[in-house]
Amino acid sequence: MFLRVHALMESSAVNGPGARAVIWVQGCSLGCPGCWNPGTHDPLRGSRLDVSEILEWFAKASRENKVEGLTISGGDPMEQAPAVLVLLRRLKAAHPGMTTGLFSGYTERELPEALWRAMQRQLDFAVLGRFNVGRRSDHPMVSSTNQVLRLYTARYSMADFAAQSVEVHIDDTGLTQITGFPVLGSPVLG
Ligand code: SF4
Repeated sequence: MFLRVHALMESSAVNGPGARAVIWVQGCSLGCPGCWNPGTHDPLRGSRLDVSEILEWFAKASRENKVEGLTISGGDPMEQAPAVLVLLRRLKAAHPGMTTGLFSGYTERELPEALWRAMQRQLDFAVLGRFNVGRRSDHPMVSSTNQVLRLYTARYSMADFAAQSVEVHIDDTGLTQITGFPVLGSPVLG
C-alpha cells in the first residue's frame, strides 16, 4: 500500500502534544482560499512511499528523537484514507505507546461514516474543517474558528495542546522547512 507524501519531519514541537514526527501527505482538492501550503495540492507531485518505508522512517525517528507520536497533515490525509488507515493501524500495532493525530479539511459529517469510525479508532486527536481565512482563530491547533479539535482517547486533554507557534527547521544542506501556525504563532527554533 502506497501513500503520496509531500514531506516528512522527524521531530516537531508545534503539531500536537510533545515532540512528534510529522507527515505531510500530497494532494488536496479542497482549495481553501489563503491556504498556507498550496504546494501540497497537486495529487501527482510528492513522493510515492510504501507504508512499510514510512513505518521504518517512523521507527528511526522515534528512536533518535524521543517523539511521543505521529501527526499526519497535508495536503489532505482523508483523500488517501485507505493508505492512511493502514499506516495508522500498523503504527499502533508496532508502537502501542505512541499517539496519533491528524489534520483534515473535511468535517466529520462530510466523511463516510464507516470509514471515519474506523479512522477514529486509530487516532488520539484530530483537527477537522476547512481553513477559513476570514475567521482566524488563536486557539491551540485550529487556524480558523470553524475548525474543531476532537479527542478520541483519554491520552490527552485540551490542556495538553499548546498555544499556536511556528517552527523553522534548517538542515545541513540548507533545506528549510516551516511548520506550525505561521500567521498567529510565536516563533520556535527547530
Ligand atoms: S484543506 Fe488544508 S491543505 Fe487543503 S486547501 Fe484547505 S488549508 Fe490547504
